[in-house]
Amino acid sequence: MLDIQSIRQDFPILNQEVNGHPLVYLDNAATSQKPQSVIDTLVEYYQKYNSNVHRGVHTLGTIATDRYEEARDKIRRFINAKSTKEIIYTRGTTDSLNTIAYGYGRANLSEGDEIVITPMEHHANLIPWQQVAQATGAVLNYFPMQPDGTLTLEDVRKTITDRTKIVSCTEVSNVLGTVNPIRQIADIAHEKGAIMVVDGAQSTPHMPVDVQALDADFFAFSGHKMLGPTGIGVLYGKQKFLEAMEPVQTGGEMIDEVGFQSATWAELPWKLEAGTPHIAGAIGLGAAVDYLENVGMEEIRQREIELTDLAYDIISGIEGVTVYGPQKRAGMVAFNIDGIHPHDVSTSLDAEGIAVRAGHHCAQPLMRWLKCESTVRASFYFYNSPEEIETLAKGIKETKEFFG
Ligand code: PLP
Repeated sequence: MLDIQSIRQDFPILNQEVNGHPLVYLDNAATSQKPQSVIDTLVEYYQKYNSNVHRGVHTLGTIATDRYEEARDKIRRFINAKSTKEIIYTRGTTDSLNTIAYGYGRANLSEGDEIVITPMEHHANLIPWQQVAQATGAVLNYFPMQPDGTLTLEDVRKTITDRTKIVSCTEVSNVLGTVNPIRQIADIAHEKGAIMVVDGAQSTPHMPVDVQALDADFFAFSGHKMLGPTGIGVLYGKQKFLEAMEPVQTGGEMIDEVGFQSATWAELPWKLEAGTPHIAGAIGLGAAVDYLENVGMEEIRQREIELTDLAYDIISGIEGVTVYGPQKRAGMVAFNIDGIHPHDVSTSLDAEGIAVRAGHHCAQPLMRWLKCESTVRASFYFYNSPEEIETLAKGIKETKEFFG
C-alpha cells in the first residue's frame, strides 16, 4: 500500500488552494506535477555545475557530462533497453515520433507501401505519418475499433498486409484509456515484415515498460508526463534501426569529422542529438526515474487501477453522463454531460479547485469517431486520492444541477 499522505508531501504544488478550494489536480495526462527531488535536481544543476556537455574538459563540464550520461543509463534501465546507444534524448514524444517518421519513414517508404495506425492516435502519432505518406506516396491505413474503443487481434491481422512497412500505435489512448496489446500487434507486424513503432507517452509514466518484452522497434515518450521537466523526452530505437537512420537534424555535437564539403557522424546516441541538449531536463528526468522506481511502477499501476475503477463507477453512474472507452483502462475517464459544453463543465469544476481538461485532446479523428466535438477528461496519477475522486463526482453533480 502506498502512503498517499507522505507521497503528497513530496509534491509542493498539491498543497495549495485554487479559487478558495484545495487543489484537486486531475489533468495528469496533459502533464504531471513534479516532486521536490526533481525540482532540487534542476536547481542544483543551475546553481552548482551549469556547463555544456561533451565539450569542455573543465571540472564543471565533466560533472555535467557525467550526470547527463548517468541519467541516460537510468532511463535505459527503466525501460529495459539493451544499451544507452538506444536512448536518444529528444524534446518529447512529438519530437521522437517526428524523428522516426522523417528519419526512418521517409527513407524506407515508397509508393503503395502501407503505414497502419489506429483511430485513437494523438495528433503526434498521426500527422507525421500523414505528411510522410503524402511525401512518399505511401498509404495511411487504420485498424478498425470496437464500439468501446478497443482493437481486436483479428482486425489487426486483417489490416496488416504484405505491403505494410510501418505499424504505429499508442500503448495507452490519451482519451479512452484503452491499453493496447502491443506485444501481440508487434508480433503480427513482424510476421509481415513491418516495423513496430509505439507511442509510450501515456504508458511509460503509469505502468512498467519493457521495450524488449514489447519487441518495439521504436518507442517514444515525454519526461513531463512522468514527473520530469518539460522539453525533454526519449526516442528509443533498436540499435540496428538507429544505426541505419540518417540524422534529421545536423550541426554541432552530432559529428565525427567535418570537412569543407562533407561530414561524418558521431556514434550513437550522439549522432541523433544535434546541438546543445536540454541538459538540466535530462538530469531532471533521471531524478524523476529515481522517484518512480522508488515508489515502484507495479504499485503505481495498481493504485491507478483502484482510482480509475472508482472514478469510472461513480461517473458512469451519474444520470445524463456518457463515459467513453472500455471499462478496463488506464488512469483516465473522458466523459460528457448531456446538454452542457465540456468547456462549461471544466470552468465550473475549476471554480471548485478541480483541474480537468476539456477539448479534443489532440485527437480530432477520434472525436469524429466518438461522434462528439470534445469531451471532459479527468486523468489520475498515483498521488491522487479516492477523496479527490469523490470531490470530482460532487462537482459533476453540482455542475449538472447548475446548468440543468
Ligand atoms: N502521444 C500521446 C498519447 C499523448 O498523450 C501526448 C501528449 O498528450 C503526446 C503523444 C505528445 O506528447 P508531447 O506533447 O509531450 O510531445
